[in-house]
Amino acid sequence: MNERTALVTGANKGIGKHIARLLAAEGLAVYVGSRDPGRGQRAVEEIGAGARLLVLDVTDPDGVAQAAAQVDRLDVLVNNAGISPSLAPPTDTGVEEYRRTYETNVFGVVAVTNAFLPALRRSPRPRIVNISSGTASLTWSTTPNPQFTPGSGAAAYRSSKAALNALTVLYAQTLAEDGFKVNALAPGLRATDLNPRAAAAGGDPAEAALGALRLALLPDDGPTGGFFSWDGTPVPW
Ligand code: NDP
Repeated sequence: MNERTALVTGANKGIGKHIARLLAAEGLAVYVGSRDPGRGQRAVEEIGAGARLLVLDVTDPDGVAQAAAQVDRLDVLVNNAGISPSLAPPTDTGVEEYRRTYETNVFGVVAVTNAFLPALRRSPRPRIVNISSGTASLTWSTTPNPQFTPGSGAAAYRSSKAALNALTVLYAQTLAEDGFKVNALAPGLRATDLNPRAAAAGGDPAEAALGALRLALLPDDGPTGGFFSWDGTPVPW
């Protein structure tokens, strides 16, 4: 089977659905990851040719294993599924909120990546794209920057994405000899259910998906272990 395949987690809506649509338009067979079969199937029908449903709750170890067993070869894994339960600063954030947030944004990525590694290793050009956030940048968080207003809110979410960034570098280093490219994307503020504040600001999630597409289809001499904005500009850690 020479058909290139991709999996986008949390692809039933938001940025993930746009990424799945772009990958399908590039001719890849795209597994639309969704924890809810109905919502996932609707996204598959919207995307059309090339899209197929993969029921996948990234926090369910048995479900992740069952999903991985259905995929023989994978060329592109986009770890997109994420949650942002609150905008609370660290002083108002309890361990439970960190636990819940990390369960999806960090442990979910680890579980999915490790489970799909055998399928990725069957690809001649494996690519992993971790959807991170500019709000995880420690540099941007501590330096005045026109792209980002420093503050101390969303502590659980931002620290979870900082952990994801660290894992991006570690996976990239570990898998570099095997031809993998592993990078993190800062999609920018986008109008989705995750970010109601951005709904007013109006950032288009389709634009963010272009950045994921670029990292998903990197050539062999492309970067690995990097953190990039949707337009390809490097983001400081
Ligand atoms: P949405 O809320 O629109 O989409 C999130 C997706 O993740 C949904 O499909 C959701 O599924 C899925 N998801 C959540 N938990 C799980 C789970 N346990 N298993 C499987 N799927 C799950 O948000 P966005 O499109 O904005 O978010 C996509 C990514 O982009 C996230 O990682 C987010 O952190 C990141 N991001 C977004 C920004 C923005 O401004 N929007 C800015 C920076 C980063 P369901 O429909 O079932 O809830």
